[in-house]
Amino acid sequence: MKKERVKCRICYFGGFLAICLILYSCLKDESDWDLQKTSNGVIKGKNRELSLDAALSWYEANQTPVVATRSVDTKFELLSKLHWKKGLESRKEKFEVVEVPLLNKGGAVLMDSETMEKYKETELGKIRNISRMVIIKNLETGEIINFVMHIIGTYEYLMTAKHFEENSYLYRDPHFSGSVYFYEPEGSLVNGWKYEDGKIVATIKQGTEEGLQMQTEAASRGFTVHVCHFENILVEYNDCNPTVYQDPEYGLEIGIECRKKTKWETVEVCEDIYYDESGNSQTWYPEDNNNHNGGGGGGSTNGGYIPQTPKAKAIFRNSKMTENNWLALEKMLNKMTGTSIGNALYNKLVETLSSKTIILEFVENSNSLFDPSLSTIKLRTDASSGVLFHEMFHLLQSYTEQQTWNGSALNRDVQAHLAQQIYINSLPESERIWWRKKSKKDTRWIVTRSLAKCIDENGELRQGIDEGELQEILENKVIKSFRKVGYTENNYPWLDIRKGTSNFNTIKILSK
Ligand SMILES: [Zn+2]
Repeated sequence: MKKERVKCRICYFGGFLAICLILYSCLKDESDWDLQKTSNGVIKGKNRELSLDAALSWYEANQTPVVATRSVDTKFELLSKLHWKKGLESRKEKFEVVEVPLLNKGGAVLMDSETMEKYKETELGKIRNISRMVIIKNLETGEIINFVMHIIGTYEYLMTAKHFEENSYLYRDPHFSGSVYFYEPEGSLVNGWKYEDGKIVATIKQGTEEGLQMQTEAASRGFTVHVCHFENILVEYNDCNPTVYQDPEYGLEIGIECRKKTKWETVEVCEDIYYDESGNSQTWYPEDNNNHNGGGGGGSTNGGYIPQTPKAKAIFRNSKMTENNWLALEKMLNKMTGTSIGNALYNKLVETLSSKTIILEFVENSNSLFDPSLSTIKLRTDASSGVLFHEMFHLLQSYTEQQTWNGSALNRDVQAHLAQQIYINSLPESERIWWRKKSKKDTRWIVTRSLAKCIDENGELRQGIDEGELQEILENKVIKSFRKVGYTENNYPWLDIRKGTSNFNTIKILSK
């Protein structure tokens, strides 16, 4: 009697153990995550504001459920779905993060070309990558953004790493070797980082087919490649198609045929590691995580997501603007800040606005303008960077010429035209010619160009001309030419007490 009971207890115990083991292996992924609560100061599973639920409702209100990682340049595309049940919370410093695994279509695995060459069928279980949607909140500003993160280990790392899955947005294994890529949720590569044994060794940008081709040609001619080179990330996936075939016994049959296929994404890898001079104000990564390579210089090497449009977002806002609008705006600002007067204007505005932003709206059928009462710049969709410069100049005038605002609308616009012409004069020749042709019949531009011959880029008189002569030109030529093309006395009064070069004080401020 007693013996039997013991036997049973053993068998129960055995059964219990087996269940425990099964449960353990099922839960292994999550418990690994939970146990590592304080690695590198990252606190896991305890977000206070951006919980998994909060992230889900934010996502459903703002984004589409299917994610497409694609690049226009190389026609790479990867469709994924979010696996919310496996979402993970983590936080560090002012950032709270929710990471949601992405289920890639066709079970696609991303790998580098070395792994693709080296791996054997028996190592298939070790060939894996991390693909996640990252939703991140800046607790200081309240801003939430999202992007796609792919973490790809090198062949060597994948074969030996015991905790590859622990790598996350906020945490990188101290021995991680491989690459981290950040993509727009429905778009192209934003930026990335290459690691060797836990250290950042290069930054990654979108590559182009032309670039890759140039590299191949250079290599075939025996040139060595310098700071930047191109690499491929490969995507291996199953491509399944229904097939129709003739069965001798049953007639027509339908089956599914799957073939392993590969696609690739070309990226540009540069060893000049990105330094963010302004700290991490425009990036989404804790300061602690910054990896100071070699200790030289005061900038911080990042490991995080760096938005593609930091210049635009530092001074403008508009929740309705598309990704392409932001990119177009950033491109114009990059061009602008490439010139001395444009750079001065941009920096002066950043300083003056001191982290406030103004609304920028793209308009189809009306003129570009700056509206001081609404703090809004309206910009025609076909506007050039010179037009954006002009409206931004008016924005700066609303701070620098506040006291003399009334009754000086034409004085301000004459100055804005001159500043725009100075800006255009500092662009490449092709742009200067384009602008001259475009505006050659417009009397206000003809007169603005002659004004540029009297006043230099610092807002001062050029040699051979005095204040009296300038005043005469303003009165007899400039005002009249502007009146001719619709700057009426009613809408654009001229403030007469402002004489000569004192009309160009904002240009003077920019030259300091
Ligand atoms: Zn204007």
